[in-house]
Amino acid sequence: PFSYTPPGRNHLFVPGPVNIHERVLRAMNVPGQNHRDPWFAQFFKDCLEDSKLIYGTKEATPFIFPGTGTGGWEAALCNTLSPGDKVVCFRYGLFSHLWIDMMQRLGLDVHIVDRPWGEGADENILEDILRKDTEKKIKAVCVVHNETTTGVTSDIAGCRQAMDAASHPALLLVDGVSSIGALEFKMDEWRVDVAVTGSQKALSLPTGLAFVAASPKALEAMKTAQLKRVYYDFADMLRTNPSGSVPYTPSLPLLYGLRESVRLLREEGGMGAVAARHHRLAEGVRRAVEGWGLQLLCKNPRWYSDSLTVIETPPGVDSNRVVALAYAKYDLSLGIGLAQVNGKVFRIGHLGNMNELMLARAAVLGGQHSRDPHQGEPRGVRGAGREGEVDVWKRG
Ligand code: PLP
Repeated sequence: PFSYTPPGRNHLFVPGPVNIHERVLRAMNVPGQNHRDPWFAQFFKDCLEDSKLIYGTKEATPFIFPGTGTGGWEAALCNTLSPGDKVVCFRYGLFSHLWIDMMQRLGLDVHIVDRPWGEGADENILEDILRKDTEKKIKAVCVVHNETTTGVTSDIAGCRQAMDAASHPALLLVDGVSSIGALEFKMDEWRVDVAVTGSQKALSLPTGLAFVAASPKALEAMKTAQLKRVYYDFADMLRTNPSGSVPYTPSLPLLYGLRESVRLLREEGGMGAVAARHHRLAEGVRRAVEGWGLQLLCKNPRWYSDSLTVIETPPGVDSNRVVALAYAKYDLSLGIGLAQVNGKVFRIGHLGNMNELMLARAAVLGGQHSRDPHQGEPRGVRGAGREGEVDVWKRG
């Protein structure tokens, strides 16, 4: 057990939770309030309207649930599908694996398309699967847009094209947990049917809200979907939200934070400018990694993620120790490698509230230590690897 508190300020570079802007922190600093008082209705309608910005949608219906990205996954599936429905999902990291695990536990019949970790959703494979489904038994195509395990971004527009090329009517359900609000996301243009994210990712809020948006086609599917749903039932939201009320107690601080966070995105120039910043920062990190003489887990530039960078440590260097040392020496929080790449990679998250000067702080580690993680090792760090986290792979 490791109980050393490093001096100085924490430097947070995990791909969620992310750094929270001071303005957002201040906006959330409110006393207890009653969401049944008259001011709430317009306030909440504004929250819903604001949230549309990050999806790139005018047509979809936004929902804000208490929860996290995992709750958003459940909402997407339960509101649109029935037990035994056939769905297709690519698996190329821990998060796509866990979403598939949820699908199976809900009783869906999942066609799993395994891809190497470091690659994304192959549109040709998808088109081929859909073309072969002549009876149109597949009800949904599920894609993790940005796989946070590997630093890989798939091409949702390309997946939509594959679906169109196969003239397939399946729903397109997208996990945008580490993409929406950071990377280009065009829900209407790509005809995404359900999109999901969580407050602690690019929106740069504390954890606690699941953001979900549903297309008119998804809401139509809801009418016949038979999977059981209670807490994440769209119907309860659709019954209450239009008048600005909610079916259960909302987290008002998080909603105040949301309004401020969206205000910041607008002030920056909107989602185009935000995506451009993420690209610029990510490119800087990729070039730094090259300068350090290290390799990305993702080899093909077509899959490069602008949300986070996943870096391989050289053979014989345990990446858990790199992460532990970064924390012990600099109060630098990096992401460990998850599941089968634990010990082999570390992750630098650069999504959300981040700028060039902040990001430069992550460079001390790569420059000095990733080749020799024991250099300058402070007291207490030995044995501080977090191998136990590998167990999340076995959830369920
Ligand atoms: N999907 C992706 C791509 C993620 O990165 C995460 C979490 O990191 C999740 C889903 C699960 O989200 P949560 O931990 O908010 O439930």
